[in-house]
Amino acid sequence: MKMYDITAPIFEGMPVYKNKPEKQPKINKITNAHVTESRLELDAHTGTHIDAPLHMINEGDTFETISLEKLVGSAKVFDLTDVEDGITKSDLEGLDIQENDFVLFKTKNSFDDEFNFEFIFLKKDGANFLAERKIRGVGIDALGVERSQPNHPTHKALFGADIIVIEGLRLKEVEPGSYFMVAAPIKLVGTDASPARVLLFDRAPMEV
Ligand SMILES: [Zn+2]
Repeated sequence: MKMYDITAPIFEGMPVYKNKPEKQPKINKITNAHVTESRLELDAHTGTHIDAPLHMINEGDTFETISLEKLVGSAKVFDLTDVEDGITKSDLEGLDIQENDFVLFKTKNSFDDEFNFEFIFLKKDGANFLAERKIRGVGIDALGVERSQPNHPTHKALFGADIIVIEGLRLKEVEPGSYFMVAAPIKLVGTDASPARVLLFDRAPMEV
């Protein structure tokens, strides 16, 4: 069974949204005699992470309401590396996207090693299409699922349809196709997001 780690590494100086210094993680390594204990200061949206509705909806659901059952299971990787600017409904219509699918979009973003202000994102009509299809979740290889859209209609369409959003995936090494996904976030309570370790396997674990 082949495993792909599609998680971005977290370190001081890593790519962060819009290169904002305040979004950089701080790793404060404290050594007392021979005991080292690092203290982390992280934005909840650092690196590969999962958003909760609270992120874009006042009084929206917080992170612990996202059930792990929805984050572990089949996932489909689609090759959208030809898309320029943003993913639209017409980019998605011809793809095999069915109800309850977890779809992961591999775009040119996976080949960027630094934050790209023109990152490929999911446009509003693409998000509405996914909402109509009643998918389980969507993952993208950008630190945001949208940009340059006033009032964040993509986030709102997805959260409004109970669709899970994973951002910051690294899909360069992954071929399009069907996988078994384990997306395991930190078990944060009350937050609007959580960093996650996301793994893909080329086949499902054996049933016991
Ligand atoms: Zn986010």
